Amino acid sequence: MKYDYLIVGSGLYGAVFAHEAKKAGKSVLVIDKRPNIAGNVYTEDVEGIHVHKYGAHIFHTNNTEVWNYITQFATFNRFTNSPVANYHGELFSLPFNMYTFNKMWGVVTPEEAATKIAEQRKEITGKPQNLEEQAISLVGRDIYEKLIKGYTEKQWGRDCKDLPSFIIKRLPVRLTFDNNYFNALYQGIPIGGYTQMVANMLEGIEVRLNTDYFEHRSELDALAEKVIYTGPIDAYFDYKLGTLEYRSVRFETELLDQPNFQGNAAVNYTDRETPWTRIIEHKWFEFGKDSQGNDLPKTVISREFSSEWKPGDEPYYPVNDDKNGALYTQYKALAAQESKVIFGGRLGEYKYYDMDAVIASALDLCKKEL
Ligand code: FAD
Ligand code: UDP
Repeated sequence: MKYDYLIVGSGLYGAVFAHEAKKAGKSVLVIDKRPNIAGNVYTEDVEGIHVHKYGAHIFHTNNTEVWNYITQFATFNRFTNSPVANYHGELFSLPFNMYTFNKMWGVVTPEEAATKIAEQRKEITGKPQNLEEQAISLVGRDIYEKLIKGYTEKQWGRDCKDLPSFIIKRLPVRLTFDNNYFNALYQGIPIGGYTQMVANMLEGIEVRLNTDYFEHRSELDALAEKVIYTGPIDAYFDYKLGTLEYRSVRFETELLDQPNFQGNAAVNYTDRETPWTRIIEHKWFEFGKDSQGNDLPKTVISREFSSEWKPGDEPYYPVNDDKNGALYTQYKALAAQESKVIFGGRLGEYKYYDMDAVIASALDLCKKEL
């Protein structure tokens, strides 16, 4: 055998494992079917702007071990996620905070805002039964109608009355003037882009791109003692028990010959009529500057359209409902019988992992395996 490990997938999970295995003296080969490394955190350089090709990625974590680990490979800037909501041209601050309440109702003090919310939530008696009731009981009907209903229905393709309440519980509600979307101790964007960060993790490691594991399976398996597989778990078993479902996203990306399109990295379109859910203006993740600190004359924007996934589409968000959960459990049982293969990462474990969670999970495996 030529290698101790074959790592299928050069996303964060594969890159962490590859880096640690090499450091432990193991020989590793990383393959990826895409023409580039870094999986979904891949950033592409367009006119000096790092474009987040598979969706906007903002690193945030409360896990100090993960933060200390990832900052070996990149210095992070001080980007703080503060999206703006656009409801038919009216702008509001997100997440819900005193700026939002002032714009919505003209209230000035936290006490006035709390009174307004308390009045409006009275319509919900008893435990909220769905997302609509949960949202109204958190922030009242006005905010639900203007900032939640349309966005959520576009994002999930379902009526708010048919969605579970937990989805909305992640959104912070604050009686302070704080526009920071995440309650995280550490937050930022790697200077130089995510692709450079992952390249640093993979330094000195053999990587073969444009290489689909399933097209060369037997010859690749013959090269290594063990396989770390970070692709879709159902694909590994040739979908023999059925297909796991995902929500998909379509991006329409444009280069514009103007320096500033919307003045913020993310603007959410919260009305039902605008077909996209949000527009990302990539340069603002790095304050509109190139790597030398010069202002960039052009800009790149991506409109995001949420869609139902069908086989062949890029899988984005695992659907955490009972049906898919049960099917995943069956695949997981099959996976446990594969003694040579370890399944990891967002697709290998069919789990909505944020970047920090995927790094933590790969580091756990390293502790057990290496
Ligand atoms: P991936 O990055 O998906 O890597 C898997 C790799 O395996 C891919 O490169 C793929 O090409 C390769 N592969 C699959 N099958 C094969 C095969 N048969 N042969 C060879 N190679 C194969 N997290 C945050 O913390 N903050 C955010 O703001 C954030 N925003 C997100 C926005 C979107 C739209 C999405 C979808 C996710 C977001 N995430 C965010 C989550 C983040 O993308 C994941 O946590 C992380 O990318 C998972 O890494 P991974 O290595 O598990 O998977
Ligand atoms: N949400 C909303 N309006 C917004 C932003 C979010 O109603 O402007 C709701 C929506 O239902 C979404 C949920 O809050 O699914 C969680 O938002 P978050 O941005 O955390 O979603 P993610 O895309 O990270 O899953």
